[in-house]
Amino acid sequence: MKSYVFPGNISDDIMELGSEPFIYMRTDEFSDINKESEKYLLELVHAKNGRTIIYTGSGTGAMSAVVENYVTTRNKSIIINGGSFGKRWVSLCKYYNCEYYDFNVEFGRQIDFNRLEDTIINENPDTLLCQHHETSSGVLFDIKIISDLCKKYNISLIVDIISTFLAEEFNMDELQADICITSTQKGLNIPPGLSIIFLSEKLKHYKFNHNGYYWDFEDNLNNLSRGQTPFSPATILYLQLNKRLKEIISYPQKELTNISQVRENSRYFKKICESYGWEIKAENPSCAITGFQTKDTDRKIFKGLINKYNTYIMPGAIPGFYRVNHMGLQTKEDLNELAKQISELENS
Ligand SMILES: *Cc1c(COP(=O)(O)O)cnc(C)c1O
Repeated sequence: MKSYVFPGNISDDIMELGSEPFIYMRTDEFSDINKESEKYLLELVHAKNGRTIIYTGSGTGAMSAVVENYVTTRNKSIIINGGSFGKRWVSLCKYYNCEYYDFNVEFGRQIDFNRLEDTIINENPDTLLCQHHETSSGVLFDIKIISDLCKKYNISLIVDIISTFLAEEFNMDELQADICITSTQKGLNIPPGLSIIFLSEKLKHYKFNHNGYYWDFEDNLNNLSRGQTPFSPATILYLQLNKRLKEIISYPQKELTNISQVRENSRYFKKICESYGWEIKAENPSCAITGFQTKDTDRKIFKGLINKYNTYIMPGAIPGFYRVNHMGLQTKEDLNELAKQISELENS
């Protein structure tokens, strides 16, 4: 099987952990692994003296936790809404009755920063919620400009880096982001099931709210001080996460090595798309994925790849729009082959 979805192809040594006997979670051994993962995660995201919470749950669980524990303590948020994931911040704020301004960005477009600044002046938010990469379209938002605006107007910055962690450069301390989130099946490229909250040092003594029993920050942080989780963790996934983090930490330039691999594959595939006449829709496209428009309007490519080639790519919201993930294991030959198969199915 070949996978260009989330996750992409995973190395055998990580997959094999899933079929081996695993340790009991209420042990010092598990605590040590958990604490070590926290240390590596903070190093890779660049959050000195920060904290992490690793949840058993998908990325949306972590987004929900952020709103329950933190956004409900704030006066008003501005939400960058450029697709399905921006919309999810909106749904969550609505669900928890948080005041928000829905800042709409056209699908696949970069933010109009003059309009954003005007809106900030008019709406006076104290919190900004955004995605680094709107995975539904493939557009990478300019996080440096967002961060500069947040610094200028003293706004607390929360960034969903679920699909850019380890795929795009990101420095939480430099950007002065208060909270970031990621999940296992995207940049980390291991099986789905864990999500991760990064809390900056600034929030060390913050009084969080208690609006959700399972995702409660304080309860989780207290348990994590001794490397434990309040409830049963997905033990195997914690072990796979730890192994993957160790692997990345051991690269010559750590996350930058990983990022440059992703970037190389991304550049290569984007060039192939050009040669086949598939339009890359996003302005400022991310390296994490390539989103491209084909002529196929009835999912011939999606179904054909599965049935004929045992291969997955991601269909998008628009007919004929497909997305290929570059965060998994893939070679240039793989990408050539994939493009050939897509073109054959498109014209079948
Ligand atoms: C995948 C993803 C999520 C989380 O989605 P789940 O369905 O919970 O896995 C959130 N934000 C972004 C940007 C994502 O790519």
